[in-house]
Amino acid sequence: MDIPPPNSFNEDLTSASEATMLDLFGEPGAKSRECGPVTGRFKNRIVSGVNVGPFKVSGLDAAVDSLKRVFEEAEQQIPDVVAAVKTAGMLCVRAKRTSRNSFSNHSWGTAIDLYFGRDVVPQGSQQCHQGCLQLAPFFNKEGWYWGAGFSGRSVDSMHFEVADETVERLFGPRA
Ligand SMILES: [Zn+2]
Repeated sequence: MDIPPPNSFNEDLTSASEATMLDLFGEPGAKSRECGPVTGRFKNRIVSGVNVGPFKVSGLDAAVDSLKRVFEEAEQQIPDVVAAVKTAGMLCVRAKRTSRNSFSNHSWGTAIDLYFGRDVVPQGSQQCHQGCLQLAPFFNKEGWYWGAGFSGRSVDSMHFEVADETVERLFGPRA
């Protein structure tokens, strides 16, 4: 289905900027094309193989806790969607696919990619899985930004990340 109008989701939320993430957590590792290991100083805050309801993830501790709350709440209202959702990954230290000089927010383990059925929706597509649309309000409520709101070829309807407004609340004041 088509991504709905941008004013219908992500209210008062913006994507976490690289400056915010670097300020708070520092360099995550190598800015490579494929997933690399975390070498940054936040390494001890990475949790692995944690069950968040529909699947297990690896990511930053407070982001994983927040993700659990998203799915717990969604489970109360749209259990079929929660039962069907799959992940294409959370933690992955790499460059953005659309901007090789910047880190993807997956690099700090604060973003997750979701899909339904057999196929992911590729970045740049104006389409989204209905399930992602249904989950978006639960993510937004918990302070996560939906990548369907990115513009142009960066549009990424399978992508959800801890929003810029939420980072400090979730992870504490900047060092
Ligand atoms: Zn993503």
